[in-house]
Amino acid sequence: MTNVKIRDIKAILTEPDPGSRYTVVKIETSEPGLYGLGDASYRTRPKAVRSAIEDYLRPFLIGKDVADIEDIWQSAYSSSYWRNGPVLNNALSGVDEALWDIKGKMAGMPVYDLLGGKAREAAAVYAHSTGKDIKQVEDRARKFMEEGYHYIRLQVATPGFATYGAPASSATGRDPQDGPRWVTGKTAAATREYAYAQDAGVFEPRPYMRSAIEMIGHMRNTLGWKVEFLHDVHERLPANLAVEFAKEMEQFKLFFLEDLLPPSDIDWFKNVRQQCSTPMAIGEIFNNIHEIVPLVKDRLIDFMRARISSIGGITPARKFASVGEAFSVRTAWQGPGNISPVGHAANLHVDLAVWNFGIQEAPEFRKATLDVFSGAPEVRDGYMWSNGKPGLGVEIDEKLAAKYPHNETGGGHFDNVRRADGTVVRP
Ligand code: MG
Repeated sequence: MTNVKIRDIKAILTEPDPGSRYTVVKIETSEPGLYGLGDASYRTRPKAVRSAIEDYLRPFLIGKDVADIEDIWQSAYSSSYWRNGPVLNNALSGVDEALWDIKGKMAGMPVYDLLGGKAREAAAVYAHSTGKDIKQVEDRARKFMEEGYHYIRLQVATPGFATYGAPASSATGRDPQDGPRWVTGKTAAATREYAYAQDAGVFEPRPYMRSAIEMIGHMRNTLGWKVEFLHDVHERLPANLAVEFAKEMEQFKLFFLEDLLPPSDIDWFKNVRQQCSTPMAIGEIFNNIHEIVPLVKDRLIDFMRARISSIGGITPARKFASVGEAFSVRTAWQGPGNISPVGHAANLHVDLAVWNFGIQEAPEFRKATLDVFSGAPEVRDGYMWSNGKPGLGVEIDEKLAAKYPHNETGGGHFDNVRRADGTVVRP
């Protein structure tokens, strides 16, 4: 008990850089000047998250003691009866992280100290080398290596098709999931060109597999073995082809292969494990610990890749990590550009404090974002560093944030990627 109470809770929606579409929770306390910030960024459903925060959590939590993080998490989690979805969890995360921020400020300690202290000096991060062709991927990877990165995610466009995580190889091969500036094109079904169509948003497994295997083989030959490679399948392969792909990747000794299969196919990881040693990372769209436990307890994966805001914040993240530690599964929290700097700080504080940290994904923050958020974690020499300030160490300029409202042109959703016959591809 502290006698410091939650006085008010609000959601701040801001989009300083195109596509960032952040949601940040601010909790004000009964102590003048004492407040906390937490990340609740869910790029495709931010208004639903805002409603969960302001219409439901705010009245439920005003007046509660800011000290009782675990009790507040459990009571808010149970207060909706139906639970474990991304909207409610992101709202909960905003509250949870803001309370950890407040507790750190009250203690005069960074959150990693509250979690047990530093298990390492800084968190190794991986950079994203993407390109429209192999040469561009290689050039960018070399640049990252010169900057001190030891881990690089490699993604190349598949000529004539949509490819996750890479720019278009031509004017027509766009992947609309990769950013708001990528214009939605016609699907193959719309144009009635079914076989290996050249339209935007068309994905076919075999051409993707061949282009990725060729690209990563090239990188091993030219960049050598002093650098670790990662690759993201983004769950798009049919299960049996996913097994084949993991086996073919084994020769290149990846640091990890990400999201080989969707959550609905997790039983297939047994087949993958029996047939190859390619390290597996999954969990990006998981929402709760019940989804990861079956994979962890049977040692079917190597890295848990949840988005901390989607599982409900720092409180559940440390539980994920503890479960993982018992089974030698490491953390690799999701860290794209649509997580606010407050959320990246939350990633970092957990990274520094848990023993079984694996790797951290990190974006290159652009100027507009750094103008709105001061104290964002800094990446240099391939590592992410904390500023060591009490709490999460990040502040927001609310007036400036208000100048960047969310741009929800087109409804703010991901456009669908489809097979050449028009079938929707998950995710
Ligand atoms: Mg991914």
